[in-house]
Amino acid sequence: MKLFTDTASWKTDEHGLIAETARKFFADTLTPEMPRYIKQGFIDREFWQQAGAQGLMGGSVPVAYGGAGGDMSFDATVLYEIAASGNASWTYIVQGIVIHYILAFGTKAQKQRWIPGLVSGDAVAAIAMTEPGCGSDLQSIRSRLTRQGDHYVLNGSKTFITHGTTADLVIVAAKAGNSERSKDISLVMLETGDAPGLRRSERFEKLGLMGSDTCELFFDDVPIPVENLLGEREGLGFYQLMQQLPWERLALGVGALGAIDFTLEETIAYVRERKAFGQRLMDLQNTRFKLAELKTKAEMLRAFINDCIARADLGTLDSAAASMAKYWGTETQNLVAHECLQLHGGYGYMMETPVARQYADARVQMIYGGANEVMKELICKSIDL
Ligand SMILES: Cc1cc2nc3c(=O)[nH]c(=O)nc-3n(C[C@H](O)[C@H](O)[C@H](O)COP(=O)(O)OP(=O)(O)OC[C@H]3O[C@@H](n4cnc5c(N)ncnc54)[C@H](O)[C@@H]3O)c2cc1C
Repeated sequence: MKLFTDTASWKTDEHGLIAETARKFFADTLTPEMPRYIKQGFIDREFWQQAGAQGLMGGSVPVAYGGAGGDMSFDATVLYEIAASGNASWTYIVQGIVIHYILAFGTKAQKQRWIPGLVSGDAVAAIAMTEPGCGSDLQSIRSRLTRQGDHYVLNGSKTFITHGTTADLVIVAAKAGNSERSKDISLVMLETGDAPGLRRSERFEKLGLMGSDTCELFFDDVPIPVENLLGEREGLGFYQLMQQLPWERLALGVGALGAIDFTLEETIAYVRERKAFGQRLMDLQNTRFKLAELKTKAEMLRAFINDCIARADLGTLDSAAASMAKYWGTETQNLVAHECLQLHGGYGYMMETPVARQYADARVQMIYGGANEVMKELICKSIDL
């Protein structure tokens, strides 16, 4: 008997094929290398390229740009499988987010220039919104773009940037113009190459997601060609962020569901084997009741996430639903990690036990992509208060 239901309305044979490919590829290629990636603090570029060759990063990208031409549910399928393999440190989610910004707002020339390399894994992308002085309150960002002829000059800094030390391409949110208003925010594509004036900090030491590199970026008069602006004019950045953030938030909910399934499967295998008081931990009523509670939460989350994925495919996913998927999904993920670690006893506290890494990786899910408190504010907007 399967542990979880698998009845999503949006799933086709193609989704089944990509899920199977991803599962096998992660088991053979990612899981065995993850301890080394965690030690070095980043994922090898070769792994990105291998994932590209498997077609994992182009499911929802038009064929013209190197993808398979499917819809968002193909990205969701891969995101679920990454987390369900226990390897959330491969933060492909950020690559997917950047691809969709370019698809949504880029010119044909921009799409042709950047998307094929991101789909193949030859290039790695980052998105830089957060600054040392502001994260949740994006309207207050201070990084600045000043136009000088055919290029902008970028000044400021960004922090907590996923793939910051390895990215070839970074979407930077900065204000063009002299006011402090959100309608002056623009998004520009920074090609890191040998960009003068760009400095990257050392990789941050984090509580979890240790195989994913995170750092601070400093911009000191960095020139960026005017044709690297995303969108037809300056000042569209805040609108563009608001358009794309719902998908990012649902994607975090999808990852939460994958991590929950992984953690529950690992825990069930453990309590079947471990003995206490002459019986298996599984035979204790508390263990079975806990697992029943957690499985119920997982199944309810699955139904909602699947509904949100179907809405994303139809283009009707709204900000409140995406915020609920992120808030409820990541909170449930943390609860599951907490309870499952408890069922492992002291072994759960040892880093070589998979549930320990799940516990550590889960925590940040309630913070990034918009803190869960911010999600609640967004949900409130859908209520007639
Ligand atoms: C591992 C990691 C990776 C990240 N990757 C990226 C990335 O790739 N790109 C990027 O731009 N950013 C990234 N971030 C940054 C992340 O998005 C921010 O940390 C997050 O948005 C919160 O901002 P902050 O840390 O400045 O917290 P603050 O804005 O200072 O908020 C602190 C806390 O205050 C509370 N709070 C904030 N606002 C409200 C509110 N309106 N109502 C009630 N309570 C509130 C919440 O509890 C919140 O956690 C990453 C962060 C981490 C830790």
